[in-house]
Amino acid sequence: MSEDCLFCRIVAGEIPAEIVARRDGFVAFRDIDPKAPQHVLVIPETHVPSIAGTDGLSAAERAEMPLFISEVARSLGLQDGGYRVTTNHGADARQSVLHLHWHVMGGAELSASM
Ligand code: AMP
Repeated sequence: MSEDCLFCRIVAGEIPAEIVARRDGFVAFRDIDPKAPQHVLVIPETHVPSIAGTDGLSAAERAEMPLFISEVARSLGLQDGGYRVTTNHGADARQSVLHLHWHVMGGAELSASM
């Protein structure tokens, strides 16, 4: 855990979040400022700053991550309609929280622009 990391503090239960799923070292919770009717963030409990730090995750965590993301999307009812999964790294991508997180968005036809 990184003491000054917002998402580590959510994992630890120190900051409230609307958690929708939790499994095998991963947590999914609703984005506080949703950009789609369904907008959930999926994070590893292990603190790594972005996708560029996935070497800091175990092989099991790396393997589990996409499975958990798709399972969360399915649990949100997005399997048939479709959904978008994105992650940001660094300033040009406007990453604002330096703990790897996957945006899972759906529930309506999304913008063609990323
Ligand atoms: P990014 O810009 O890719 O780093 O995304 C960070 C996301 O975290 C944004 O979509 C924010 O709305 C979201 N966010 C920030 N603080 C919280 C919070 N306390 N609970 C849930 N989501 C948050």
